[in-house]
Amino acid sequence: MPGKPLSLVESYLIKHLKPFAYKKRHNARPSLQVRAYRARDLLNCTVASFYDISNEDLTSHQRRAKKEFIELFERQAKRPIAELHDTDLYSTLKTLKACLDEFFFFGSLTPFSQEFTLTHFPPGTRLHGLFNLTETEDKSFRFKITLDKRRDGKPAALPELVATLVHELTHAFLRVFACQCPRCLRNDFNGVGIKTTRHGPIFRGMHYAAMVSLASWSEELDRVFRIRSGGTYIQRSSLASEKISIEDVKKSGDSQKMHMLPYIRKPSSRLLIRVSEDSVVIDVDRLRANVKRTAASIRPAISFREKLSKILNLDSNSETPVEFKIDSAKDCSDADSDTSVPFSNGGSTADRSD
Ligand SMILES: [Zn+2]
Ligand SMILES: [Zn+2]
Repeated sequence: MPGKPLSLVESYLIKHLKPFAYKKRHNARPSLQVRAYRARDLLNCTVASFYDISNEDLTSHQRRAKKEFIELFERQAKRPIAELHDTDLYSTLKTLKACLDEFFFFGSLTPFSQEFTLTHFPPGTRLHGLFNLTETEDKSFRFKITLDKRRDGKPAALPELVATLVHELTHAFLRVFACQCPRCLRNDFNGVGIKTTRHGPIFRGMHYAAMVSLASWSEELDRVFRIRSGGTYIQRSSLASEKISIEDVKKSGDSQKMHMLPYIRKPSSRLLIRVSEDSVVIDVDRLRANVKRTAASIRPAISFREKLSKILNLDSNSETPVEFKIDSAKDCSDADSDTSVPFSNGGSTADRSD
């Protein structure tokens, strides 16, 4: 199915920035730009910043977030579920949410997070979480996450709630920062996913990498992830809903109208993060090498005191956060590319997720 060629004007207007990736022992939080990155580039750079990295090679932000998460989670998960629900469940989840953002998503989501709600979904609802994105008057975004406090009619255990939270945060990250230009949207079958579900390969790849990482922090979380995914760390319900959505879009004729690129069932083995229906394969060595080459270069804004310390070979305080400038004004393209598509999407959208 040939795609509609972009006009010169359209091509000129589309800018894909280089995403940010942590390099060893960065001690800065980058400020990512809204909807500026191709989904595949964002996936690569983000996963390379947290996946399969030893503690000593994490940034100090990440180490702190991981430590705080594990301590709080372990303490609260041991308490009787009813007692936790009756006392500080909300504040616990809020703190865990901030830790997850800091560790996996560069702390970039918290400024966009409007509300976090714990509620009872109507009986019979199969969803456990909702994600809602609103465009503000100043063309920025705010997102809201809502979690169902119950599972199977009973108060949900903390690992279950955290599992849903990770799912929703992954949606939030991609919705806020992945580009939605016509070229990118055109490849939604192989990208972030169809508008109604957004459980495409890029989502599943990032969610997988986050789940695998979190599973190594807690046996309880690992158990929940394994149950939900049949041991694959690919949430079966996410894949199932996405496949239904793809069929719906094809049947409706919308995919032709939008010149959608066809769904690739067996992605190339050359991809750095290869997401198929039953597995995700992360080629860690190639991923790191690629990201080192293609991620936005950052230059620390070194203070005079630090510069002087360097010149004099003094020991500067490495725990002091420094500001980084990100050189990301160029279109990022590399061999690990999905092509990208069209139609703009404003306003508020609710995501159906579980
Ligand atoms: Zn784009
Ligand atoms: Zn979802």
